[in-house]
Amino acid sequence: IKPRIAQKDVTLHILKTFGIHMSKKLGQNFLIDGNVVEGIVSAAKVSQGDAVLEIGPGIGTLTQGLAEAGADVTAVELDRRLLDVLAKTLEGYDNVKVVHGDILKIDISREINKEKYKLVANLPYYITTPIIMKFLEEHLPVELLVTMVQKEVAERMVAKPGGKDYGALSVAVQYYTEPEIMFIVPPKAFIPSPAVESAVIRCTVRTTPPVQVASERMFFRVVKAAFAQRRKTLANALKAGGLDKEILEQVLTEANVDGMRRGEQLSLDEFAAIANAWTNLTN
Ligand code: SAM
Repeated sequence: IKPRIAQKDVTLHILKTFGIHMSKKLGQNFLIDGNVVEGIVSAAKVSQGDAVLEIGPGIGTLTQGLAEAGADVTAVELDRRLLDVLAKTLEGYDNVKVVHGDILKIDISREINKEKYKLVANLPYYITTPIIMKFLEEHLPVELLVTMVQKEVAERMVAKPGGKDYGALSVAVQYYTEPEIMFIVPPKAFIPSPAVESAVIRCTVRTTPPVQVASERMFFRVVKAAFAQRRKTLANALKAGGLDKEILEQVLTEANVDGMRRGEQLSLDEFAAIANAWTNLTN
C-alpha cells in the first residue's frame, strides 16, 4: 500500500526529494485534500476498467485516486520535470500510462485509442475552458468530463437565461452536455493556495443535442454575436456580428423572436430558431 499523495506533508516531501519548485506559469497548484480527490473520483463514477484521460497529473495526486478505483488511466503532463516524479509516485500501478506533452498539441486519439472515455482534470484555470471546448467541439469520444474550475466559471457553465452569468459559455456547454456543480473546493485544499474558490463540475456529454440545429457553425455564430455586446438589443448585436443584415428582420420574424430583447434572455431553443431561420433564408 502506497501512502496517499493528497496530504500536505507527503506532497512537500515529494517536491523536496525531487527538488521541484512549483511553476506558476504552468498553473501548478497541487491538491493536498484526500476528500477532494475522493470526491472527484466518485463524481467521475469510476469503476473497474473504465478508460480515463487525465490531463495535468502533476505529481500524481488525482491519478493515484483514479488508479486505486480501478480506472485504466492515460495521464498527459506537460512539465518534463514531473516525469521522474510520476514514475516514482505511480510505481506499481500497472493501470496507469503517463504521456509527456501538451494536451492542446498532441494527437489525443493516438494516446488513448478507446471508443469512449472519461476526462478528468485539475488544470491551470486559464486553459481549462479552451480544453473543455476543444473536446466538445471536435466531438472527441468523451462521455463525461469532470474538472476543477474557478467557482465563477462553474456558475457560468450551469447558468440559465436571464442572469448575468448566462453567456456564450453557458450555451455551448449546455448544448453539448448536461453540466452539474458537484461541490465547492476552498483554496486551502491546494498548495500553494490559489486566490479564488474552485468548484468541481461534471459535464455529461449528450448523445443527441437538446435542440435541432441545421448548422452548428451558424448556431455558434449567432450565440457569439448575441453576447458580444451584451448591452445592445438582440437586433443590434446581431447586426454588429457580421451576419447578413439585409434579412435580419425576416430572420427574427421567422424565428418568432423579438429583436428588442437581449441575448442573455434567450433560451437554447430561441438561439436555434434564429440560426435555423438564417440558414434557411440564405440557402
Ligand atoms: N492534478 C494535479 C493535482 O490535482 O494536484 C496537478 C494539478 S496542477 C493545477 C495542473 C497540472 O497541469 C500541472 O502539473 C501542469 O504542469 C499541468 N499542465 C499545464 N498545462 C498543461 C497542458 N497544456 N497539457 C498537459 N498538462 C498541463
